[in-house]
Amino acid sequence: MMTKKKKEALRKMLVEKKREVWNDIKEKLFEQLGKEYRKEIDAALDEGDKALADLAEETGLTIVNIRKDMLEKIDHAIEKLDQGTYGICEDCGIEISEQRLKAVPFAVYCIECKQKREELEQIEQEREQFGAPTPPEVGEEI
Ligand SMILES: [Zn+2]
Repeated sequence: MMTKKKKEALRKMLVEKKREVWNDIKEKLFEQLGKEYRKEIDAALDEGDKALADLAEETGLTIVNIRKDMLEKIDHAIEKLDQGTYGICEDCGIEISEQRLKAVPFAVYCIECKQKREELEQIEQEREQFGAPTPPEVGEEI
């Protein structure tokens, strides 16, 4: 069972991580689009993170897509913290090891399930890449 103190510390850490990711996105936005999108970026900054995320998406920066995925994961982790399901594997329901959570604070799967998922993903990718094996045609002339 997670103590309240530990929970607060975790939340603080997650929020901090989120800010870090955001700063990174902002920096990249300025760096790559600063001149062209100056006005848009300023306007988005006034409106808040959501507007900035939309702008970033419009401009098609890949870095932002990757970071956005991470932001969603962090948000999800904070949500779970509120619901009291933080640190419990979403696949098998066992507690995720403290060591793993320390390394990946927004992990939602235990290491075994994560590995299983990665293996499946890889098989899936290979299948997409090479296509399903087609049976040899019957009666084909050699
Ligand atoms: Zn699991």
